[in-house]
Amino acid sequence: MSDKSKRFPLPLSAVVDPAARKEQPKVLVRPQTATQNAARHVEGQARKPGLAPRHSPQNGANGQQLVQAGALKITPVPDRQAPMVSDAVRHAMVARVANQGVRDEKVLHAMRVVPRHLFVEPGLSSQAYVDASLPIGFHQTISQPYIVARMIEVMRANANGGVLKSVLEIGTGCGYQAAVLSQVADEVYSIERIKPLHELAKSNLRPLRIANIRLHYGDGMLGLPQAAPFDGIILAAAGMEVPQSLLEQMTIGGRLVAPVGARHQVLQLVERVGKYEWTSQTLEDCHFVPLRAGTV
Ligand code: SAH
Repeated sequence: MSDKSKRFPLPLSAVVDPAARKEQPKVLVRPQTATQNAARHVEGQARKPGLAPRHSPQNGANGQQLVQAGALKITPVPDRQAPMVSDAVRHAMVARVANQGVRDEKVLHAMRVVPRHLFVEPGLSSQAYVDASLPIGFHQTISQPYIVARMIEVMRANANGGVLKSVLEIGTGCGYQAAVLSQVADEVYSIERIKPLHELAKSNLRPLRIANIRLHYGDGMLGLPQAAPFDGIILAAAGMEVPQSLLEQMTIGGRLVAPVGARHQVLQLVERVGKYEWTSQTLEDCHFVPLRAGTV
């Protein structure tokens, strides 16, 4: 990759596909899937499972190959309907996230600059700034903004003053959280086990030209030994326990934040305090899609 500079965020006008915006928004909100605390903020709820992803898979299979989202170029396109997804709407979403207790200004700033509506299918973009998870296809969801912010805030509250050289996300989904992470860490690695979602994340991130995200297709339960160790690891899917290989890929002083459980899930913070020593604490209830082994 030749272009190392961060060009993010681009103005919305440079990244919104005007053709996509012409579609009629459907009135849809996924049932709340994060904290009960956040449920108060959801306006109108209806179900529609398993929507198709916005983008079909592109560019063929890359297997475990390194993907550098920032290396790709786009031709900026004007967007006459940008006010509908204006900064003000996103700022209001971030204000609600802050009201729920997220205090880390760097995280709140990251949430303000990442255009979440570009990570949901066009028919749902009117819902993009409601504090709720939304379907992204394949029975998966884009995480609720509050929980994205909360997990990153917890990961940043390390003994190193929030410095994060390299972080790993398990469960790329549509790529939204990876984009937020790119604003708080030097290097972001993200793994997805469902190939079409890996491809969806690539196409969602491509126009944003974020230079410090590397997307991998694979089983995140195995981590990414070739890029380890990580100062921070975030799991966007819930297992019954944190996989051992991930614990071993943390730096000493590193923090891992993961939902743990089945029907009843809790957010767990694990800190590596020594070569063979980890501490763990339970933070709050949450609800995520399941962590599954293998790839599809
Ligand atoms: N990070 C996303 C959330 C995606 S939902 C966001 O920004 O909103 C969680 C994702 O975890 C799903 O796409 C699911 O396919 C993925 N997942 C589940 N188990 C996994 C595993 N073992 N390895 C990698 N991804 C996994």
